[in-house]
Amino acid sequence: MLIEAGLLPSDSTLDAEICIIGGGVAGITLALEFDRQGIATCVLEGGGLKPSTKSQALYQGENVGLPYDMQATRTRRLGGSSNCWGGWIRPFISIDFEERDWIPNSGWPFHLDEVEPYYRRADDLVQVNHHGFEPAFWHSQLNKPIGLLELDREALETVISKFSPPTRFGRHYHAQLVSAKNTKVILNANAVQLATCSNATTVHGVHVMSASRSAFFVRAKHTILAAGGIENARLLLLSNSVDARGLGNQHDLVGRYFMEHPRIRHGRMTPARSADLFRFYDARFTYHNPRLSVDGTSASAHLALSEQIQRRERLLQCRTYFRACRSGEDSALTEQFHELYNAVRWRHFRDIKLQTYAAVVRHSPNLVTSLLYRRLKLAAKSDHFQIETVVEPAPDRESRVTLSSQRDRLGLHRAHLDWRIGDQEKRTHLRMLELVRDEFARSGLGHVDLEDADKGHPLSVIGCAHHMGTTRMHVDPRQGVVDQNCKVHGMHNLHVAGSSIFPTCGNDMPTLTIVALALRLADHIKARYGLGSPGPVNRRQLQMAPNVPSGAKTMDAALIAKCADPNLTPAIVEQFISAGSDDPLAAP
Ligand SMILES: Cc1cc2nc3c(=O)[nH]c(=O)nc-3n(C[C@H](O)[C@H](O)[C@H](O)COP(=O)(O)OP(=O)(O)OC[C@H]3O[C@@H](n4cnc5c(N)ncnc54)[C@H](O)[C@@H]3O)c2cc1C
Repeated sequence: MLIEAGLLPSDSTLDAEICIIGGGVAGITLALEFDRQGIATCVLEGGGLKPSTKSQALYQGENVGLPYDMQATRTRRLGGSSNCWGGWIRPFISIDFEERDWIPNSGWPFHLDEVEPYYRRADDLVQVNHHGFEPAFWHSQLNKPIGLLELDREALETVISKFSPPTRFGRHYHAQLVSAKNTKVILNANAVQLATCSNATTVHGVHVMSASRSAFFVRAKHTILAAGGIENARLLLLSNSVDARGLGNQHDLVGRYFMEHPRIRHGRMTPARSADLFRFYDARFTYHNPRLSVDGTSASAHLALSEQIQRRERLLQCRTYFRACRSGEDSALTEQFHELYNAVRWRHFRDIKLQTYAAVVRHSPNLVTSLLYRRLKLAAKSDHFQIETVVEPAPDRESRVTLSSQRDRLGLHRAHLDWRIGDQEKRTHLRMLELVRDEFARSGLGHVDLEDADKGHPLSVIGCAHHMGTTRMHVDPRQGVVDQNCKVHGMHNLHVAGSSIFPTCGNDMPTLTIVALALRLADHIKARYGLGSPGPVNRRQLQMAPNVPSGAKTMDAALIAKCADPNLTPAIVEQFISAGSDDPLAAP
């Protein structure tokens, strides 16, 4: 069921077994799972069904690190950033989970085999086929000459990504959410603070504000933060009324280790023979190209550093691909056009730089050709390729999200971002370019021009809109915000979903892994707390009221009475949680 927050009576309380903050990729994945199990769940979604500049403006932040736009890199409405994602997917691989001695603070508390079973279910949610990612399989399926490059596998190898349609979670799962019997999705419901007991170890519920700033409260036995890689940390920091450091922040880790995949456009490759040979590695040509589709899913190839060379030369992970260009075509100009387009789309007219506007207007004929060319996927006509590279970010404690002194429309401190990357990323990028140049020269594939490759580092770095690491996972509370089950250290009933939990993130896209880990978290919560399982369940008292009639002050008189029950002390709730009971109020 979908409910508009503005219809809820102000100062009322809703009850749920589980409250999920954020109706994006992770939040919707969790909600669908809990609904299937009959668990009363409330999803608080800060945005509505449609784009809204008012809601989007709540994502505005203060940035002091590498250039970064916190509004353009996420979407604040049902479905979250899946409303604008590109749909590239690839599961993490074994080395992503490993503690590598040349990368401080790398590694996960478990291996790939812990997540692997969930990837298949995740594939279904993002609507891709079940074929593997083995390059040989895709090579065998494609019409020649599209296929794999023959490479010296000592240094470079081909890796495959697939394309989700891309699934827009809010739209695609809309009907399911509307008819969900056990799930209430409250739209335009902004979580503003988590309410805890007096020693900040148990969350009782969430303070929420509608778009018109009327306040209400959601009381839940479990709370899951699924508000995205920046907002998860921000909400923990904002929940500081009991502990001034915020929740889960005893060791000053919340918001630290912010990671984003540095993406760098540098270098140019001119093919020795037909450009067709490189089509499978051309992001522009392969992007959702139905001609490359196998059983409904298309794919794309990248060049990656082999594991051997990473270990031998102590490098990060790195992948490179091409963007076909025709003579006269200017990729930088296309990017400037996108910058202008986004500023106009979100009505950030003040962000428009005069030189961007002037460049776009001056070169508009080239731009039209370039955009047409992209639309029509005319790769065969290209005479050179731009090289684009994505590097794994090394976890860096000083790269972080904190609270700004500026406040948003709801009166909350905005996010303050200091995104940093270090020498290891630069060294890896430059080494990757050298290896591509040498390999293409050796095999006669083409000429790679790297003039001034290290100039402009890190200024020429752009991100991929992947926000990771700010509530990192580690078994040791002094090194991580959440434990191996995504539970916030030191808290009984607060979990986190999304890429903020990634302690290391490799160089692949995060969303498939976000979905897989959300499915794992749903299984864990169901099993650990006995939710949704048959047994002595007294869910009647804890179920949320049915849809709230406009103007009604109370939703369920018995429920409100219980919320006001002076016997509901933190100790009782904690006792209930550790005993796995169903009803905190039924505890002695
Ligand atoms: C332009 C772009 C392209 C991308 N392309 C790719 C790609 O090709 N492949 C890939 O893997 N990833 C891609 N991503 C990243 C991908 O979109 C994210 O990894 C994914 O959406 C994260 O899921 P999430 O559920 O953690 O966060 P989100 O999907 O962002 O969802 C968070 C939700 O929380 C809500 N919210 C936030 N704050 C509050 C609050 N206080 N109260 C209530 N609700 C709140 C938001 O409205 C939102 O709906 C891309 C992102 C962008 C922006």
